[in-house]
Amino acid sequence: MALAGTGAFLWQAQRAAPAFPADGMIAQQADAPTMTAPASPEFSGDIDAEQGLALAADAWGDMERVADPVERKLVNLGRGETLMQLLLDAEVPQEHAQGAISALRGVYDPRRMRSGQEIKVLFDHSAGDGKFVGFEFQPAVERSVSVSFDGVRFQAAEVAKPLQRRWVAAQGRIESSLYQAGYASGVPTPVLNALINKLFNYDVDWQRDIQPGDSFEVLYEQYLTESGEVAKVGTVSYAALTLSGKRRELFLYEDSDGSADYFTRKGESVRKALLRTPVDGARLTSGFGMRMHPLLGYSKMHKGADFGAPTGTPVFAAGDGIVEEAGQKGAYGNYVRIRHNREIATAYAHLSRFGSGLRRGARVNQGDVIGYVGSTGRSTGPHLHYEVHRGGKQVNPMSVDLPTGRNLDGKELKRFQAVLAQIEDRYADAQAGLTLVSASAGRPAAKAEGCRKAPGC
Ligand SMILES: [Zn+2]
Repeated sequence: MALAGTGAFLWQAQRAAPAFPADGMIAQQADAPTMTAPASPEFSGDIDAEQGLALAADAWGDMERVADPVERKLVNLGRGETLMQLLLDAEVPQEHAQGAISALRGVYDPRRMRSGQEIKVLFDHSAGDGKFVGFEFQPAVERSVSVSFDGVRFQAAEVAKPLQRRWVAAQGRIESSLYQAGYASGVPTPVLNALINKLFNYDVDWQRDIQPGDSFEVLYEQYLTESGEVAKVGTVSYAALTLSGKRRELFLYEDSDGSADYFTRKGESVRKALLRTPVDGARLTSGFGMRMHPLLGYSKMHKGADFGAPTGTPVFAAGDGIVEEAGQKGAYGNYVRIRHNREIATAYAHLSRFGSGLRRGARVNQGDVIGYVGSTGRSTGPHLHYEVHRGGKQVNPMSVDLPTGRNLDGKELKRFQAVLAQIEDRYADAQAGLTLVSASAGRPAAKAEGCRKAPGC
C-alpha cells in the first residue's frame, strides 16, 4: 500500500498554513487548534506507510490520521547569512530555493530577517525522495510566515496568530525611584519608560520631586498567546503619581480625529510642545549666551544648552517631528536635527551614536530615543549640546515660550468624560483581579461575566 494513494494528510496542528490562491494575502487564523503533534519519533521522518498507519491507529484509534511525511529541519539564520545561503546549506537545490524566496517576497521582505531567526525547512518524504517543499518561520510572536509548494509553484502566506488582550493594574509606594517601585510591583520596563519619559516628563523633575512615601498607579494592556504566555505589552491607558501629597492623573484618549494623547481629568493635554530636558537625569552645565569657550580660549556665543551626562545616556526627541539631518557635522560631531513644524526645530550634538533606524526623513515621536550622549566633534567631555531653532535661528532652549498641547472642550470633552469613566471601571476591575479579555483585533473588551461575584476570582 502506498501512502500517497491512501489519501495521506497531515495533523492539523502541523500543517504549515492554509495555501492561499493569491500571494500577499494575510489571514486571521481564528480558532487554530493548539494540539501538538505526537512526540513519538516514529511519527517524524521517513517511515513505512503501513507501519505509519498502524502506529497512528494505535496511538489515536483513528484510522483517518496518519503520520506527517514532512520533515521539519530546524536551522537558525547566521550573522550576515542570507536566506539563500541558509537554504543552500540545508541542501535545497538552488532553483527551488530561488522559487521559494521569490514567493516569500510577496508577503515578507527576506532582508528584514534577523540573525538568529529560527527557520523550519520542510522536506517531503512521502515519495521517498525528501523533496524540498518550503519553509516556515515566526518573525514575531503574533505572526508566522510560511512558504509551501502546491505541486506547481511556491506559495507564501502570512498568518496572524490571535493574541488576547487584558488590562493589568499595578500600584506601589515609591521609596527611592519610580523605576525601583515599578520593578518591585512587576511593572514591565516599557511601561515604566513610558511613564518616566513620556507621560510625566513634562511636569516631574525625577531628580528633585520624588520623596519617600510617594506612590504610583498604572493601568496597561498586556497581550497573551493562546497558551497564556505574555507576548507583548501594549499601551498605558491610565497612570497616576502622588508626589508629596499632590496627585497627578493622566488618561489616554483618542479623539474623534483618531489622534491619541494623555489628558488630565479636566481634559487638559499634558503635552508641552517640547521637552525641557531631552536627556534623562542630566544637569544643565552650560546655558545659552556669551561664554569663554573652553577649547578655543576666547569669548564666543554659546547657541544652545549643554547637559552633562555619561556617555551612552539616551537622548530623546524633544517633540514629534521629522528628522531633517542625522550624521556627522563638523564641530557638532554626530548630529541630529528634528523639524517639529514650519517654525521650530531642535538639534542634538556630540552624540556617541544614533538611535536605531534613525535617518533623514524618519518620523519621530516625542520621547523616542534618537541617540546617545557622547563627546564627538569639538567637545571636552561627554555631554549633550541641545539647540532650539525658531525660524532658522538658535534661541535659548530654557526660556523659549512654546505653545502647549490643546485642551478638550464641547462635544470632545463629553466624549472624553465617557472614556475616562470606562478607564476607571477597567482599573477597578483589573485591580479586583477580574479578567478582562478581548481579541487583539481591536474589538471592544468583553468582560468575563460570572467572575465578578466569585471570591478570589
Ligand atoms: Zn554646547
